[in-house]
Amino acid sequence: MPALVPYVAAYSNELGPRESELCIEVPRNGVPRIAYVHPRPEDRDAHGNLWARMTRPPEGERGRVMFDCMDPLRQRECMTGLLCQVCAQPAETSAGTVFVEWQRPGEQGPKPLDRITTDAPPVCGACLPVSLRRCSFLREEESVRVLLVRKSVISGVSGTLYRVSDDMKRWIPSEQDAYSSFNKPRYPGMLAQRLYRKLRGVTVLETNGIPPALLAAN
Ligand SMILES: [Zn+2]
Repeated sequence: MPALVPYVAAYSNELGPRESELCIEVPRNGVPRIAYVHPRPEDRDAHGNLWARMTRPPEGERGRVMFDCMDPLRQRECMTGLLCQVCAQPAETSAGTVFVEWQRPGEQGPKPLDRITTDAPPVCGACLPVSLRRCSFLREEESVRVLLVRKSVISGVSGTLYRVSDDMKRWIPSEQDAYSSFNKPRYPGMLAQRLYRKLRGVTVLETNGIPPALLAAN
């Protein structure tokens, strides 16, 4: 059986921006912020966060699949449009949207259902049973929960936080996986790599009792 490669998976030869592509921009408010030397409109989200640009190898020349890593731009695309992280088709149905969650390293137990914020895009009804069966991580991880979510809202980004060097000439990475909520002021040195959604109206589904309405949605 060929490996199931999720749409959001990263590849070893799709790389983030080089330091030489980044510059320091001083907008009207006088606070230096991270920017690209050659800016493009799609580089920033609605909250003004700068997103990592990724290199794309020519068709058919993708490197090794990195199953435990998501490509920032494909993750952002799926999270923004509620697209399935496996097949990139719409994952939203009239019954809700399915998210598959698990306990992340460092977490002290399962999060209460009304407190879940996630960077894992949803899964469509067609891909859900296949993923639960064929993804070795989901098969083996005991904390996996399949959640039916009535509503979700985009809530923040995470990525690499940079600080300005003392000579004000370049950006120096200072923190990985820093989270920035859309309810708080933006970090001027954030290079966003993942988009988050806050889940609302969450119910847990039995993994062997997925409602037929969800499975037939696509
Ligand atoms: Zn799918």
